[in-house]
Amino acid sequence: MEQAIETYAIDHEAVIRLVVFIGVFLVMGLWEWLAPRRRLAVAKPLRWVSNLGLLAINSVMLRLLFPAAAVGLAWSAADLHWGLFNRVDWPYWLEVVAAVLLLDLAIYLQHVLMHRVPLLWRLHRVHHADLDIDLTTGSRFHSLEILLSMLFKWVVILLLGPALFAVLVFEVLLNGMALFNHANVRLPALADRVLRSLLVTPDMHRVHHSALVRETNSNYGFNLSVWDRVFKTYIDQPERGHDAMTIGLAEFRDLRQADRLPGMLAMPFVSRP
Ligand SMILES: [Zn+2]
Repeated sequence: MEQAIETYAIDHEAVIRLVVFIGVFLVMGLWEWLAPRRRLAVAKPLRWVSNLGLLAINSVMLRLLFPAAAVGLAWSAADLHWGLFNRVDWPYWLEVVAAVLLLDLAIYLQHVLMHRVPLLWRLHRVHHADLDIDLTTGSRFHSLEILLSMLFKWVVILLLGPALFAVLVFEVLLNGMALFNHANVRLPALADRVLRSLLVTPDMHRVHHSALVRETNSNYGFNLSVWDRVFKTYIDQPERGHDAMTIGLAEFRDLRQADRLPGMLAMPFVSRP
């Protein structure tokens, strides 16, 4: 049984990720279009071309450089008996749950580092400079940040030796949740409260895209909301409210720099204006 799940994960990794991405994109895209949370500051078509263009560049780059992806690496780690979970003999389901939780914690910590280390912030600010926040913001990262994240994930996988299925579940959750929690949508207040006790909701993550530095440096979680509470980086609501708050970074307000592909790709290398 376990072997069958593991084989399924390695054989269908790419197609499962693609299907979930397209599915969540369509649902959240439709929701945003029918009932947008905030009025967007920038015209959508060209912003979407920029954000999705960057996603396309990154996807091609990753497939060319790392055809086996993270699940493939977990397979090698299992083969070599590397990493914690390849050394212990826990029940399979427990290993899967523990690995997904630890991967989520690792991504939280990586995100904090991207903000705190000046050189890394140069890369990560491309994600934050978007003058609006909607589902396409969730997949806009500078190509160098994507490469660095991949290397970081490699190290974590070699240390953890997680089940292939755990890596697949985590990657699918991360991709789906990034689309969900960047979406320009409004959940009913009660639903937001209930969901937020466990998961990152759009209102919770929007605080992280505020131009106020105190708020930019909060709510780092992507999937589980618990890490921000545990590590005291949680802010409940934006100081100026969801409608009046400024999205983006105070130092990058020029549209061509913040939301056009050449400007976005060059952003890590420009000095602060
Ligand atoms: Zn961030």
